[in-house]
Amino acid sequence: MIHKLHTGLPVKFCNLCGSRTRIGVPEGDDRERHICQTCGYIQYQNPKVVAGSIITHEEQILLCKRAIEPRSGYWTIPAGFLENHESIQQGSIRETWEEARAGITDMHLYQITNLTRIGQIYIIYRAILDDPFTFAPGPESLVVELFDEVSIPWDDMAFRVIKTSLGRFLEERAAGTFTMSVDTLE
Ligand SMILES: [Zn+2]
Repeated sequence: MIHKLHTGLPVKFCNLCGSRTRIGVPEGDDRERHICQTCGYIQYQNPKVVAGSIITHEEQILLCKRAIEPRSGYWTIPAGFLENHESIQQGSIRETWEEARAGITDMHLYQITNLTRIGQIYIIYRAILDDPFTFAPGPESLVVELFDEVSIPWDDMAFRVIKTSLGRFLEERAAGTFTMSVDTLE
């Protein structure tokens, strides 16, 4: 069975030599790839990792209103694409600084979610806000705010994966036990 190329960015030109690519199945492979028509370079595309944190101060949850697309104007937790040469934990700390100008401590891995359709893996920690008076919108956020559980803007959350993880967090917190979970959302 040949896997068709149906996700990822269309790669029109070769990253090495700049020539046009074609879609084809390399010898010995079982799925379509973008292949350079001139030098034969195969441009593999693989899932991207998003690192983030559910951040609390006492009972409150830290959320950011996005200033950038996708989903500008909607709320989410500090999270973003991992950079090269960076651990997941470092990425999560960096994103919290970039989006919420906040520091975090007491980080525990909480949720891994495979988004198989779009090729992303969300890795979410739970963490404690360093200082409840030190947070502010970074360049990618319009507003950063601590929410009581009853005030969380569920209808205006940017991403289903975050909504699901945050919902599970609040249920487990109410029950008094946190468990790590690995899930898949299509
Ligand atoms: Zn090439």
